[in-house]
Amino acid sequence: MTPSLSPRARVGRWAVLGVNWLSRLSGRGAGTVVGGRVGLAICPDLLAQLAKGRLVILVSGTNGKTTTSAMTAAGWGSGVTSNDTGANMVPGHVAALARSNHQRVVLEVDEAWLADVVRSTTPSVVILLNLSRDQLDRASEVRQLADRWRECFSAPQHEHVVVAANANDPMVVFAASGARHVRWCDVPTPWLGDAASCPRCTRPLRRDDATWSCTCGFAVPTTITTRLAEELEVAGERVELALSMPGAFNEANAALAVTALREVGVAPSDAMPRINALVGVAGRFTLRRWGNHHFRLGLAKNPAGFAAILSTVEADDGDVWIAINANTADGRDPSWLFDVPFESLRGHVVYCFGDRRLDLATRLDYAGVDFRVVDDPSDVPVASAPVPLLANYTAFSEWLKESSPC
Ligand SMILES: [Zn+2]
Repeated sequence: MTPSLSPRARVGRWAVLGVNWLSRLSGRGAGTVVGGRVGLAICPDLLAQLAKGRLVILVSGTNGKTTTSAMTAAGWGSGVTSNDTGANMVPGHVAALARSNHQRVVLEVDEAWLADVVRSTTPSVVILLNLSRDQLDRASEVRQLADRWRECFSAPQHEHVVVAANANDPMVVFAASGARHVRWCDVPTPWLGDAASCPRCTRPLRRDDATWSCTCGFAVPTTITTRLAEELEVAGERVELALSMPGAFNEANAALAVTALREVGVAPSDAMPRINALVGVAGRFTLRRWGNHHFRLGLAKNPAGFAAILSTVEADDGDVWIAINANTADGRDPSWLFDVPFESLRGHVVYCFGDRRLDLATRLDYAGVDFRVVDDPSDVPVASAPVPLLANYTAFSEWLKESSPC
């Protein structure tokens, strides 16, 4: 039960549950956001009241939030509340906390909302994954976000918060170094395209292999977690890293999840096997079937995300399918396609799907990649092996809905 709720918050909570029940009943989806909004209209501090007395871990960053949240929840064991529908702003958090009374909470948080959610939920740990450009027409500039995060963690009322942070992303380091307690993690971070200059003094950052520094003294901090070849070392303890999901970016996500869980008393040797066993999150990385076609579905929404997921395409994969939309949830401006290193797909034939398939085809043409523009998906030849299908947000949702698991 939730005995600490004020009478107004109790009404708000019942409103959230009622509206979402009606939404499901009328076939309009889970209704998490609409229910949360109604609850917040009744009781503006509903999130703070619902979070009171619970042990909260927040997960934020441009890429990997949903997967890392799922890893953190899985690594914690059973009885964890999470906004696993992907609704990662305050109404989604309210809906998740209203429907479950578990003490242990993992919330995925949109980068722009992080400071507000830290204030409301007084988390024990915050995981900071990475910061890069995303949805240029909606989100703030990367540096503005880093400034807001830094200000949040520097505030005296948040000095108890432990931050588990990616030590290899200069923007994250700048933001997290405002916090009193930071557990820095040395994790794969190939994309530094949004951190050319020092966030502290604006001079160009010097790069040397996997490290970076600035003449002002801003540099990679000392880490407690390191990914070795097939192991993770957390504060001197080594555990086997054998994820069921592909890509170095998922190893980075897992390292941050395990580091955060250690701060709430979960031993890496307990958390890591549960995370290793996790197969796919919300359709990502799973094998799907559509008609006679089989594909491995991957989500990428911005240059950094695409750079990461392109690294999972194998040389012998043959055909590659890519689907690009530019709806509101994707960002209306698809010019970011020109910052994606599609050159790595030379030697493959890329089938271009989605509302913005012509923008994609133009970019592939500049990259020297062989492509086919798909106006009618039923014309696409069936490949002998599952093809990688890489899609941005709404295109991913469409393909997930249209296909079935293998
Ligand atoms: Zn500097």
